[in-house]
Amino acid sequence: MDDYDLLVVGSANADLVIGVERRPAPGETVLGSDLVVHPGGKGANQAVAAARLGARTALLARVGDDDHGRLLLSAQHTAGVDTAGVLVGGAPTGVALITVDPSGDNSIVVSPGANGRLTPKDVRDAEHLLRGSRVVSAQLEIPLETVVELVRSLPAGTRFVLNPSPPRPLPAELLAACDPLIVNEHEARVIAGGALDGAPEDWARALLALGPRSVVVTLGAQGALVARGDTVSRVPSVQVDAVDTTGAGDAFTAALAWRLGAGASLADAAAYAARVGAAAVTRPGAQESFPTAAEVEAL
Ligand code: ADP
Repeated sequence: MDDYDLLVVGSANADLVIGVERRPAPGETVLGSDLVVHPGGKGANQAVAAARLGARTALLARVGDDDHGRLLLSAQHTAGVDTAGVLVGGAPTGVALITVDPSGDNSIVVSPGANGRLTPKDVRDAEHLLRGSRVVSAQLEIPLETVVELVRSLPAGTRFVLNPSPPRPLPAELLAACDPLIVNEHEARVIAGGALDGAPEDWARALLALGPRSVVVTLGAQGALVARGDTVSRVPSVQVDAVDTTGAGDAFTAALAWRLGAGASLADAAAYAARVGAAAVTRPGAQESFPTAAEVEAL
């Protein structure tokens, strides 16, 4: 019996957001709006998204022994995520300093903090979590060597899902473990080494040739496509009035990973994930915007 439908291994950040009329030039100070602090980070977002859908979810991450770390843990608990695997200390909690201008453009500085201290040893020490999980998902806001150790440590038969964000070229060993590799257009280009011609179907084939067992390309309002073996198929997009696309990719990945673990085909899991991603863009924020299963049904 598995203890968890999904184990998410990844980052947890406090997002510190200030609205500004314009960004300061070097040496200049500008006044901004009141500070708003949101729980974020791709790992923490995925875990909250899965738990809110009803998945039995655990998070393996590292936060600092500070107020931001406590805020992040509290957001996980509220969503129902098991945080026994969240390590505390070693560096301040990861932070994203975000300024938003009146046109909605973001400028972001990330301090990885404790996320950068999630080590290969931390993964080895979490063997019981890995053994108890049907599906394991990861992103790249933690050290690449930690993600590589994760795929080396996976028990036989455990499914691995990777969203390589922020993207960088990946070692063959890591690519070979992905089932699927989930990328948006920007991530697809970086993973493929810059050269991607033709339609998204062609990108999916080019990525499959790099070794993952399957590939999912997300296309924002155009939905997504899935590729395995010789077959590439479109996942229909869901028409909604988008308010804020922050976190849509995280919600999509979490939903897809959970449905795969429940036995869905890649195409069915992606179709469900597209509904979850669409629901997430109808509300502002990241974790605050993630739907329950009932809300996905009602869409
Ligand atoms: P990322 O946030 O990683 O760039 P996308 O923007 O492609 O990812 O969004 C992930 C998924 O969420 C998409 O594949 C789609 O299913 C859904 N989605 C995102 N934006 C919209 C939108 N405007 N309308 C409907 N669905 C959307």
